[in-house]
Amino acid sequence: MDVLTSTAIKVTNPINGTILYEIDDPSEKELQDIFERARSVQRRIQAMSLDDRIKEVDKILQYVMQYQDLILDIIIAETGKSRTDAFAAEVFEVCDVVDVYKKMAPKVLKDRNVAIPVFLMGKKAKQFIEPLGTILVITPWNFPFYQVIVPSLMAFLAGNAVIVKPSEVTPLKPLWEHFFAKSDFMKDAIQVVVGGKETGARLVDMRPDKVHFTGSVRTGKRIMEACSKQLIAIDLELGGKDPSIVFDDINIDRTVNGVMWGAFTNAGQNCTGIERLYVQEGIYNKFIDELVDKTKKLRPSFPGRDITTDMDCDVGSMTAPFQVKIVEDHINDALEKGAKLLCGGIKEPGSMHMVPTILGECTHDMKIASEETFGPTIAVMKFKTEEEAIRLANDSPYGLGASVWTKDMDRGYRVARAIKCGNVCINNHMLNEADPYLPFGGVKDSGFGRFKGEEGLLTFCNLKSVLVDKMSDMIDPHWYPYTATKTTLLKNLMDSWFSKSRKYIKFAVNGLKIDTIGKKERLK
Ligand code: NAD
Repeated sequence: MDVLTSTAIKVTNPINGTILYEIDDPSEKELQDIFERARSVQRRIQAMSLDDRIKEVDKILQYVMQYQDLILDIIIAETGKSRTDAFAAEVFEVCDVVDVYKKMAPKVLKDRNVAIPVFLMGKKAKQFIEPLGTILVITPWNFPFYQVIVPSLMAFLAGNAVIVKPSEVTPLKPLWEHFFAKSDFMKDAIQVVVGGKETGARLVDMRPDKVHFTGSVRTGKRIMEACSKQLIAIDLELGGKDPSIVFDDINIDRTVNGVMWGAFTNAGQNCTGIERLYVQEGIYNKFIDELVDKTKKLRPSFPGRDITTDMDCDVGSMTAPFQVKIVEDHINDALEKGAKLLCGGIKEPGSMHMVPTILGECTHDMKIASEETFGPTIAVMKFKTEEEAIRLANDSPYGLGASVWTKDMDRGYRVARAIKCGNVCINNHMLNEADPYLPFGGVKDSGFGRFKGEEGLLTFCNLKSVLVDKMSDMIDPHWYPYTATKTTLLKNLMDSWFSKSRKYIKFAVNGLKIDTIGKKERLK
């Protein structure tokens, strides 16, 4: 069985409040069985050729191509996102990731020959790229299909078995059941364990070989603490508070459209969505007027729109009631502290549809400008100079994504370099995430470790170092017996090689002498 559930947590359709189904935490015995199956299947995965693993992963692509409408229906039912958001960031992106990794994996996962220093002349160095074993992937609710499938397929390609604990808010249980029934994907290689926070914590305690966590800073710290008790390796892909810096030389129309998308796509529930907007004073009024005007014209998912079928909806519903409360709290806090509501700020009564909201005259003492909001809001601030913009952008505990908008590419690169973050776009936002060749991850409170890119495969590998020597009749000069003669020769070698001007003849003479000793001198 690939999906485990019983009853207790209600999975709800955020658009109409209908309870879709209920789930519960699996028993201890069920979790132990899951680990046993993972460890057993992992030996088979490791023994498979990479070509065969790629064929398995290709089944994911074939499945997505065949059942994309069903996948979208289930994602929309559990998240409330607009169909285009679900299509672009989940279905399309998964296909692209599979396509790229089919090409990238053979290059990245093959054993490597490594250079050796001159002092090890005659020996060889290699790196074996090996799986770690069983990877536990724990995921959030904002991209519930993509975030389960992508790290899982990478870990599998690298030869690992995978256990995934999706968010209890959007577990997509019917989708995983359908996927395992129809895709013919290798049994037990990826096991989806549906359950709540407690299940996540118990799975960590069962000592996977690595935890790949995507979620909030608060939970990330908790899981890292649990991992530290058993020295379990961990990647942390955590939250963000992305700044976007708009200089006064830009094409206003294009930038307004880009910023609007960067802030409101997926109803702002993006770890790298624009949450802070810094606009240079010369264009501030014109830029903000246009941004507000266009934002008001975005077509939200209410009233009366059926976003399951309506492709002309720009902004869908929010997904989680607790997140809506945070967004409302941040807006209220900003207004109390003097921010100006430029548009939005309201929620359709009785629903989770939050109107795209722009707040002017924000300051960094407001929650909306300092804590992760994770909703369709922009906190706008004005700046004068490049230095001020960089200082404001870096005045945050987070360091996930950022963007810089300018026609001056020297300035674009300079600012991109100066922002302390893991991912940055020049004249776009969040598009790094659409390039599976680019590693993705954060600094500061946004976590560590890299996902996607070559690093995203290697994070699931044991990079085993191998030093190969010949079986000759020589013994190495650094072996016993230690003698004054050998140590002096070694010191001569060091002096001749590392002195300011290299002394090749002295180096060779001392090297030959050491070789001669290596043939004769050994402990009797
Ligand atoms: P969350 O931290 O509340 O939950 C994430 C997952 O952790 C869920 O599956 C949950 O059940 C599980 N969990 C909770 N407590 C646990 C514990 N003690 N032990 C083990 N597992 C536990 O996050 P969320 O609300 O689901 O997601 C929103 C957050 O995710 C935001 O902060 C967002 O920025 C972040 N996020 C980050 C990225 C990224 O790539 N950096 C991507 C998407 C979302």
